[in-house]
Amino acid sequence: MHSAKKGIVQGRTLEGFTKAQFFVAGLTVSLVALLTATAQAPLATVNSPSRFAVVLDAAHGGDDAGGSLHNNQVEKTYTLALSVKLRSLLMARGIQVVTTRESDTTVNLDRRAEIANHANAQACLSLHASETGEGVHVFVSSLTPAQPTRFTAWKTAQAASVTRSLALAGVVNSALQHAGMNVTLGRTSLPTVDSMTCPAIAVEVAPGQGSDKKVTELDDSAYQAQVAEALAAALLEWRTEGRQP
Ligand SMILES: [Zn+2]
Repeated sequence: MHSAKKGIVQGRTLEGFTKAQFFVAGLTVSLVALLTATAQAPLATVNSPSRFAVVLDAAHGGDDAGGSLHNNQVEKTYTLALSVKLRSLLMARGIQVVTTRESDTTVNLDRRAEIANHANAQACLSLHASETGEGVHVFVSSLTPAQPTRFTAWKTAQAASVTRSLALAGVVNSALQHAGMNVTLGRTSLPTVDSMTCPAIAVEVAPGQGSDKKVTELDDSAYQAQVAEALAAALLEWRTEGRQP
């Protein structure tokens, strides 16, 4: 039952998302709520505050190519390249990284969430790419925030982490904007992210736009490096915030 078909459905959910559907207003409200919540709850994990791990989920792969990109590239290749690049940047800064795939293999959505949840990470990033839109789209699960319970339903496991996921999205948004990128924040339903128990976001990279208004395509290596650097900076910032009492 966990076929690649499910992956394609997920891809459609994300890529089919139009700007009009972004619940930006809702996110603003949530961000306010979250500022209150963060003040009450420290971000560091209780069991080992010194350990900081990040999960990188290169979406699609194997039978599931994802969307079609510029120059006959496919999404699965882009997401893996971004995952590899980001992993090396994070590891160079002493951050432990767990990936859901290392090559062009089919990994079903439940397995991706399983890997992420097993890692007990402080941040989980599901990486996507799209020719639609501009800049970087950052999505948080559309599940309603809920209190953690002893028995968590698999498909809505993320509900208990949504508040922290919104905080993570805020940090990523700042870092990307600081790097001069256009960011669109949204809420959406994504099977992988919805089953994750860590602060989780989906990051969808779309073509960028330089100061000269020229479009920077996804296969531009400088642009890809810029996105990876900004995401690494965001995760370093997130680690620092988590260490504060
Ligand atoms: Zn995708």
